[in-house]
Amino acid sequence: MRDGDVLSTNRASVPTSGGAVLLIWRIAAGELHGFAADAEYLEKHWLAELKPLLDSRGVRLVLTNPDGRRVLGEAPSRGSRSAVRLASVTQLPWTLQVFQSGDDGGAWQSRRTLLLAGIAVLVALILTGGWFIGRAVSHEMAVAQLQSDFVSAVSHEFRTPLTSLCQLSELLMRGRVAGEQDRLQYYELLHGESQRLRRLVESLLNFGRLESGKLQFRFEELDAAAFVRQSVAEFAKGQQASGHRIEVETDAASSVIHGDRETLGCVFWNLFENAVKYSPDCDTVWVQLTRKGKQVEIAVRDRGVGIPRNEQRRIFGKFVRGSAARESGIRGTGIGLAMARQIVRAHGGEVSLESEPGKGSTFRVLLPERGA
Ligand code: ADP
Repeated sequence: MRDGDVLSTNRASVPTSGGAVLLIWRIAAGELHGFAADAEYLEKHWLAELKPLLDSRGVRLVLTNPDGRRVLGEAPSRGSRSAVRLASVTQLPWTLQVFQSGDDGGAWQSRRTLLLAGIAVLVALILTGGWFIGRAVSHEMAVAQLQSDFVSAVSHEFRTPLTSLCQLSELLMRGRVAGEQDRLQYYELLHGESQRLRRLVESLLNFGRLESGKLQFRFEELDAAAFVRQSVAEFAKGQQASGHRIEVETDAASSVIHGDRETLGCVFWNLFENAVKYSPDCDTVWVQLTRKGKQVEIAVRDRGVGIPRNEQRRIFGKFVRGSAARESGIRGTGIGLAMARQIVRAHGGEVSLESEPGKGSTFRVLLPERGA
C-alpha cells in the first residue's frame, strides 16, 4: 500500500478482546488491500518516531478506549493543560488526549509564585494600611483627649479667680471687713483676681487668633533691655503674695529689637509665670539679656522641677502639659509655650529649652536685632 492511497481508503474501529483495533482498507482494481493496527502497533511504529519531537515540546499523547481504559501513553499528574478529541471526531478507535506539560509545569510554578507574591503584597498592603489607620486613630484620640483636658483645665482656671471674686465681694458687700486697711487689701485682691481673669481671657482670644492666622502684630522699635525690665516689673507686681522674686541682668550695650509690645509681653509673662509656677521650692527666677552677634538672647532660668528629656520637644505643642505639672496638680492650660513659640517665630526668632529634672529649666528667646 502506498501513502497516497490510504487517504482514500475506508476506516473503521473494530472492538476485539485485546482492545480496539484500527482497520483501514481499500478496494482497487478488484483487489482488497487492508491494514489493521492495534494500540501497541501505533506506539511502536508511529508514535516512537514522534516521541522526541513531542517530548521536546512537552506534549504527551494518551489514547483511551471508549470505556475510559487507558490504551497508550501516561497522563501527567497535574499542572498540565489538555485537549480531548473523541473517537467520533478523529475516526480512530480511541479517544485522544493531548497534554501540554514540561514548560507548562514551570508556567504553573511561576503562576503559583506570582499568586503567592500577589497575596504577600496584598497582606503587606492591608497590614501597612491598618498600621496607618491605627496610628491616625490613636493620634485623633490623643488630640481629642488633649482637647478635653484643655477644656477642663480652662474651666478650672476660670473657677479659681471667680470663686475668689464672689467671696471677696460678698464679704465687702455685707460689711464684714471692718478696718480701712483690710478693706484696701481686699480691693487689691479683687483687682488682682480680675486681672488674672482678664489675662486668661486675652490669652485664649490670642490663641484663637493665632490659630486662625488673624492675630495682628503692631511692630515697633523696642529697647530690648528696657522692655525686659518693664515686663519683669509688671509681672513682679502680682507676685508679692507668692514671695517669688525675679533677678534681672542685662548687657551694658543697648540693643534694639523690632517687635510687637503686647504679644512679646505675653511671651515673657508666660515664661516668668511658668518659672515661678514650676519652682515650688525656690523663690528666685533669673532673667538674663545678652547680645549674641546680631541677635539678642533673653534667658529665663529657674531651679524648679525641670522637664524630662523625652518631653522637652512635646511641651511646645498645643494643649500639651508635662507629666510633672499634671502629677503635682500645678494649674495650667498647656497653650502658653505653643503660643510663645509661634509669636517668637513671627518675630523672626526662636525659643529653645535646656532642662534637667529636679534641677531646673532655662528657656531662651532669641530675637534678631533691629537692622541686623
Ligand atoms: P501650662 O499652662 O501647662 O503651664 P505651657 O504651655 O506654658 O502650659 O507649658 C507646657 C508644659 O511645659 C507645662 O505643663 C509644664 O509641664 C512644662 N513647663 C513649662 N515651663 C516649665 C518650667 N519652667 N519648669 C518646668 N516645667 C515647665
